[in-house]
Amino acid sequence: MIDKERLVQTFLTLVRIDSPSGHEQDIGEHLLRQLRTWTPHVERDEAGNVIAHLEGTKSGPAILLNAHMDTVGTDRGIVPVIRDGVIYSEGETILGADDKSGLAIILEVLQTLADHPDIPRPRLDVVFTVGEERGLEGARALDMTRLRAQRGVVLDSGGPIGTIIVAAPYQDQHHFVVHGRASHAGAEPEKGINAIQVAAHAIARMRMGRIDEETTANVGRIEGGVATNIVPARVEVHAEARSRTESKLVAQTEHMKQAFEDAAKAFGATVEAHIRRLYNGYRHPVDSPLVRWVADAARRLGIEPRYREAGGGTDANVFNERGLPAVVISTGQTAVHTPNEHIAIQDLYDGARWVLEIVRSA
Ligand SMILES: [Zn+2]
Repeated sequence: MIDKERLVQTFLTLVRIDSPSGHEQDIGEHLLRQLRTWTPHVERDEAGNVIAHLEGTKSGPAILLNAHMDTVGTDRGIVPVIRDGVIYSEGETILGADDKSGLAIILEVLQTLADHPDIPRPRLDVVFTVGEERGLEGARALDMTRLRAQRGVVLDSGGPIGTIIVAAPYQDQHHFVVHGRASHAGAEPEKGINAIQVAAHAIARMRMGRIDEETTANVGRIEGGVATNIVPARVEVHAEARSRTESKLVAQTEHMKQAFEDAAKAFGATVEAHIRRLYNGYRHPVDSPLVRWVADAARRLGIEPRYREAGGGTDANVFNERGLPAVVISTGQTAVHTPNEHIAIQDLYDGARWVLEIVRSA
C-alpha cells in the first residue's frame, strides 16, 4: 500500500528545502500545508514545532508520531543524487536523511491512511520539532498538554530497518571558565597566572573519551587568550559527559569539575563551573508493551527486530522524561552528520511499511 515512488519524491522534496537548526520556517510551512490536506487540526507553536491531530477509526488512546525538521550544522543547497538505489548528497554537504527520512515516512503513512479509509488506525498526534540537533530545543519547548497520545514512536535512528532503540543516555553539558591573571609576558610574567596552562593541566589529567561501555566524555571547544605577549587571564572550556546510568554520569561530571578545581588551586587561579543537565536518559525493557508493539509489527512484515542502546539523545528523551513513553526506531539513515550520509530507497520503503503496521496495530 505504501507508494515507493511517491515516498521517494516526498523525501527528495524535503531534502531540497533548507532547514539547518534555527531555520525551520520554510520546511515548517511546507509541512503545515501537507498536514492540512488530511486534518484541519494543525498548528505551529511559539517555538516553531508543527503539531497535528488526526482522528482515528479505533477508540482508545492516541499515539504520537515524531520526527525533527532541522538538519545538523549549517549546510544549505543540498542536492540529492540517486546511485544504485541509494540516495546520497552531491558530496559536499550532508544529505539530511537525519531526519527527513522520518518526516517523509510519516507523510507517506498519513497519505496511505487517507487513501485507504478501511485501514484501522488510532487517533494520531503528529509532532515535527525544531532544533533537535541543538539539544532537543523544540521538544523541550513543547507544551505536552497539547498532546493526547499516551505512547509514541520517534523516527530518528540509523541501523537496519527493524532497529529499536531501547535505551539512551543522560547528558550533562559543562562550561568551565578559568580565571587567571593577566600580565606582560616579557616584562613581568611572574605576576601573571596563565589560564591556558591551568586549563591544559586540568584537561591533561582528565578521564575522557570512552569511560566504560555506557559512559563517554569529551572536551569539545576551548577558547581563550589575546596575544602572545599577554599572560592569558581567561579561558573558556566547553565539554560534555554522557552515560546510560545516571550515577556514572554524576561521577564523571564531578571528576571533570574536580580536575579544574584542583588545577586552579595548584596555580592560584579560580574556576567557574556551569553544569547543565541537557537531557535525562531512559531504558525500556525489551519485553515492555511499548517495545513489543513495534517489534511485533516488524515481525509481521518479516523484519527481525534488533535492539540497540544509543550513545546520544533524541526527542524521545524529552517525551519519556515528561511521561509519554516513546521508542525510537530506525529509518535507514546512514553515516549521518557527514558528507557521506545516505539512505537506501528500499530501507525508506520498508521503514514506511513498518510504521504503517505500527499504526495499524496500535
Ligand atoms: Zn536526528
